[in-house]
Amino acid sequence: MLEFHKKKPKNPSKTEPEKRIKDFQEIYSQFGKNDSVEQSSRCSQCGIPYCQIHCPLNNNIPDWLRYIAEGRLEEAYQVSASTNAFPEVCGRVCPQDRLCEGNCVVEQAGFGAITIGNLEKYLTEIAWEKGWVRNLSSQNQYKQKVAIIGSGPAGMAASAYLTQNGYQVDVFEKNDRAGGLMIYGIPNFKLDKKIVERRTEWLTESGVTFNLNTEVGKNISFQDLEKDYDAILIATGVYKARQLDIDTSSVNNSIPALDFLIESNRTGLGDSPSKNKYLTAKDKHVVVIGGGDTAMDCVRTAIRQQAKEVTCLYRRNKENMPGSAREVLNAEQEGIKFNWLSVPSKIISDSSTATSMTYKVATLGEVDESGRRKPIDTGVEKQIKSDLIIQALGFEPEDLNHNFKTNIELTSWKTVKVDFKKFQTNNPKIFAAGDIVRGASLVVWAIHDGREVAKSIHNFLQNSKIKKAS
Ligand SMILES: Cc1cc2nc3c(=O)[nH]c(=O)nc-3n(C[C@H](O)[C@H](O)[C@H](O)COP(=O)(O)OP(=O)(O)OC[C@H]3O[C@@H](n4cnc5c(N)ncnc54)[C@H](O)[C@@H]3O)c2cc1C
Repeated sequence: MLEFHKKKPKNPSKTEPEKRIKDFQEIYSQFGKNDSVEQSSRCSQCGIPYCQIHCPLNNNIPDWLRYIAEGRLEEAYQVSASTNAFPEVCGRVCPQDRLCEGNCVVEQAGFGAITIGNLEKYLTEIAWEKGWVRNLSSQNQYKQKVAIIGSGPAGMAASAYLTQNGYQVDVFEKNDRAGGLMIYGIPNFKLDKKIVERRTEWLTESGVTFNLNTEVGKNISFQDLEKDYDAILIATGVYKARQLDIDTSSVNNSIPALDFLIESNRTGLGDSPSKNKYLTAKDKHVVVIGGGDTAMDCVRTAIRQQAKEVTCLYRRNKENMPGSAREVLNAEQEGIKFNWLSVPSKIISDSSTATSMTYKVATLGEVDESGRRKPIDTGVEKQIKSDLIIQALGFEPEDLNHNFKTNIELTSWKTVKVDFKKFQTNNPKIFAAGDIVRGASLVVWAIHDGREVAKSIHNFLQNSKIKKAS
């Protein structure tokens, strides 16, 4: 250990931009044994592990790094898996630059962070290869049944811990595949779908029942779940797309980001392409509006679909972008144009088809309530050719109580109101976790919530009247 002053930080190779934009494969390769030992031995094993503190799951990173450096991989995996239900997913999609790696003491000292994300991915892939990822089993067999609504990372993580605790877990998912945004939002070049499918199979083999194509509130009522189950977890995510300030309703080729990404992910998974010709970027001048990770996923998907040109319009500058710096760099390398300080002002159309749009050039003023500097109009207006406009402005919760015909207490943002220690709603047998309580967030927070809510449901059920099976 403590080799950081002798050994330079290194990440696995990344496919060259010209090559990687030709397909949807993950762009990072994987560490080999020697590199993993070398890189983990750079850890300073500092007294206060800021990587761990800044990890939402409080993963015991210094310990598993040490085990990797010592060649004790199975023990390393056990430590890593003890806090994280899906470490191979976090290794791929966490914004490590803002979490563990960004806070690494070695990084702060100017030597370059330990490449934790790639080591986590390496370790978990080895664990799968060696058969260390065993099916979940439990000493207990409780009679009690838990219904989980939504199979994203929050629902999946909760299902793993509850099954391990001995409950019967039934997941209800409105889509035809489990995984939530890990399947239909995040593109394959960041998270190969096989990684998610492998975890779904693992959960199924461990005893979790996935009821796909089953929308609660439509195919089955929430009230039926209340009758049939001892506890209910709402993990439905947030899906209502935020709208642009300008009216786009008169044109067909201005679409929400998720419609575009779902179509791309579906065709990547082998489904037939939709008949809607506006859902593909091929041969188009594509303009993506927004500066978060969803916008980056859209621009990088569009370039892979052989768009003629892809431009990202963002109203602030690069330093004030909410998206991960790593993803912006990847997009820049792949040939995406960025028009910073650009606020869309009008769509120019030929009957119902947008042909171009205008935007106002902004400058940055004072810091606003979001903590970032507010864009101010300079009076200059420009025009950009656009035959596909993708709106990636973020997501809000849908009207849950309307959809479920319930009266669950919500916050003023329409997220479900919970006590954050227990993830319990105002109805003691109803719990909620993931984006539906936090608003649009991160996979790692959803996994955290799934883990914590499972503990809380366990406590609740243990204190309830229904006893353990004989
Ligand atoms: C395009 C995109 C890219 C992203 N990239 C990253 C990234 O790189 N890294 C990262 O950490 N985070 C990323 N995120 C955020 C991350 O995906 C979410 O924070 C996370 O998936 C939230 O998990 P969840 O389980 O709460 O909800 P979701 O993943 O949204 O899952 C909710 C599930 O509930 C189902 N559902 C909803 N209503 C019902 C109902 N009535 N009945 C039955 N089922 C229902 C939905 O179909 C869905 O499967 C991204 C998000 C998007 C949109």
